[in-house]
Amino acid sequence: MDKILIIEDSRAQAEYLKSILSDDYEVTICLEGEEGFRKAKGDDFSLIFLDIIMPDVDGFTLLKKFQETILTKYTPVILVSGLADVQHEEKGLTLGAVDYIAKPFSPITVRARAAIHIKLHHYQMQFMHQATMDQLTGVANRRRYEDESNLKWREAIRLGLTFSVCMFDIDKFKVYNDTFGHPAGDKVISAVAQAASAFFQRPTDFFGRYGGEEFVAIMLGNDSRSAFEFLQTIRQAVEDLHIPHDPSVSPWVTISIGGVTLLPKMGDDYDDYLKIADNMLYKAKHNGRNMVVWSDGGKEEWRER
Ligand code: GH3
Ligand code: MG
Ligand code: MG
Ligand code: MG
Repeated sequence: MDKILIIEDSRAQAEYLKSILSDDYEVTICLEGEEGFRKAKGDDFSLIFLDIIMPDVDGFTLLKKFQETILTKYTPVILVSGLADVQHEEKGLTLGAVDYIAKPFSPITVRARAAIHIKLHHYQMQFMHQATMDQLTGVANRRRYEDESNLKWREAIRLGLTFSVCMFDIDKFKVYNDTFGHPAGDKVISAVAQAASAFFQRPTDFFGRYGGEEFVAIMLGNDSRSAFEFLQTIRQAVEDLHIPHDPSVSPWVTISIGGVTLLPKMGDDYDDYLKIADNMLYKAKHNGRNMVVWSDGGKEEWRER
């Protein structure tokens, strides 16, 4: 059952709206704006009804926050208001609300609008997923990476969180293809992608295929040391798949990982951070492969072995 969130300071209004929708949806009510924002981030709602006039924060301000936040950016918002004037409707729709309903509203209209916006939301999510999924591996593709890295970078700056980015590269993969053939190589890329992506489960994590036999991951909120240790676990998990490599190279297929953890500031350039991760990957390759090398962007640097 789809979930709907109602953010509305009048309990009577909220309960009325809920009674209209609760046969078809799982409805949650929030009587305060800020609390509504927290709830919206914490659950997977298909639609939000948002009141404009509330004591703690107005609906327009909240709508902007929804749009700027990764976790709520794609959830459709219908503004509900007693302010049945054109300016408010214009402002709401311009800010990105999908619809505007003026009180008092008819139950049939509310149900119909909820149904259509939830349907469109599902189409949008399905389309976005397909368009940004790598065909071979099923993980996020380069296009999604470009979007997500951008969003996560800004989110880290806004919330004052550390930002970790790392590059993965399969070791001596050219030899693998030469020995076992390209189709077998494709299967390995897929297996490595599955194994590694399974570790990135937090909503603030990202894992995707950068291109060829290279992957990229982003995490928010870790310190350098714990990020380094986490990536060692993943490097080990890939080795533990025990996919036989060409014996002249190594017993099993392995990966090298280079990464960096930093606290980004307004004005910093994401590409500079990525370059550090790339340098660390180069060091991992240079120092024997099947290795994680991590930087804190300053003096500290960790490497396995
Ligand atoms: P290194 O340990 O230094 O990374 O050695 P490497 O051979 O992996 O490095 P290099 O970047 O020179 O080669 C990457 C190889 O990955 C070259 C290419 O044949 C192979 N490759 C890239 N994309 C694909 C793909 O989609 N499928 C397959 N099967 N192979 C791919
Ligand atoms: Mg109100
Ligand atoms: Mg490569
Ligand atoms: Mg390689």
